[in-house]
Amino acid sequence: MASKRDYYEVLGVNKNATDDELKKAYRKLAKKYHPDANPDNKAEAEAKFKEVNEAYETLSDPQKRRMYDQFGPDGPQGFGGAGGPFGGGNYYSYTSSGFDGFSDFGDLGDIFSSFFGGGRTSARQQTRRGPRKGADLNLNLEITFEEAFLGVEKQIVITRPETCEVCHGTGARPGTSVTKCPICNGTGTVRQVQNTILGQMQTTRTCTNCHGTGEIIKDVCENCKGKGTVRKQPKIKVKIPAGIDDNQTVVLRGEGEPGEKGGPKGDLYITVRIKRSNIFTRQGTTVTCEVPITITQATLGATLKIPMVDGTTELYTIPEGTQTGTKFTIRERGFNSINSATRGNFVFTVVVQTPKRLNKEQRDLLERLALTMNEQPPIKKKGLFG
Ligand SMILES: [Zn+2]
Ligand SMILES: [Zn+2]
Repeated sequence: MASKRDYYEVLGVNKNATDDELKKAYRKLAKKYHPDANPDNKAEAEAKFKEVNEAYETLSDPQKRRMYDQFGPDGPQGFGGAGGPFGGGNYYSYTSSGFDGFSDFGDLGDIFSSFFGGGRTSARQQTRRGPRKGADLNLNLEITFEEAFLGVEKQIVITRPETCEVCHGTGARPGTSVTKCPICNGTGTVRQVQNTILGQMQTTRTCTNCHGTGEIIKDVCENCKGKGTVRKQPKIKVKIPAGIDDNQTVVLRGEGEPGEKGGPKGDLYITVRIKRSNIFTRQGTTVTCEVPITITQATLGATLKIPMVDGTTELYTIPEGTQTGTKFTIRERGFNSINSATRGNFVFTVVVQTPKRLNKEQRDLLERLALTMNEQPPIKKKGLFG
């Protein structure tokens, strides 16, 4: 796959562009590169137009924009099987087929009507009948600190409409067929030609007989009541990659709602929330923790057993004369980086525990120690004790 241009670059905006700035830039470029506006170099304009659409389609969707900022155009590597939810490198591509598919343009329809001229059926009315991608689903998933560290496979239950298995989504009772609407001849729109003083005027409106679907269902499927879908609660396996951070999103492509008229399924966005750990905290890929030590360990030095996030321990020798608050680093025992093959460090801070209760023997020993230390801690400042 050829490497793609940065979407922000394509639209000529900076990374912090607001929705309005994006829309403005997009409108300008879509107008400029629309194939109908470039009859002399249609192919080149079409390629540019597609690129602009693709960029806008991603950046105008907050969820997709976040994914793009997080992972870049090719998505994270190794998410899920078979190429993962970002498989084919096509994830961000503009989904509608060709230039009749303006369903995603929303209020941009006005731009295109001027290119198409009055005689042409509105693009939006046409696509109402065409294939349409199913809706995306969003959900949150809470996992533990350790699960985020190691990666985990979770089974979740979601509620979503699925294509009715009795009528296969047609909404018609099996054995009966969906027939073309006789009023609009299956187009979903009705044309009217009027003679006016300016000449013939052609207008189109949505067919009221079929409500724009172009189809008439006489015998409704009992299983789905003619909707073509039924609500289901499937169990879905989700692979959470090791190193995922709080609030990051995993996408399962094609696990959203079914598309219409043979359109592709929507996607499932799973936003991961990570529970706090009592022992560890995290800063990027670095794991931090506090390790309590005794005054004798601090003074004499000691080999400590440090607990790692994966449940193992590391032996670490601190030197004699270690002060409370000193940080020590165990390399590459932190979180996996999602974007690269690197690994963070494990940093622990020792906290010297002053004993609160001593037995007779310990007290005697400490008192003898105190005598050898002249009772007064050394103060380097000149003055009172200098
Ligand atoms: Zn059905
Ligand atoms: Zn009709």
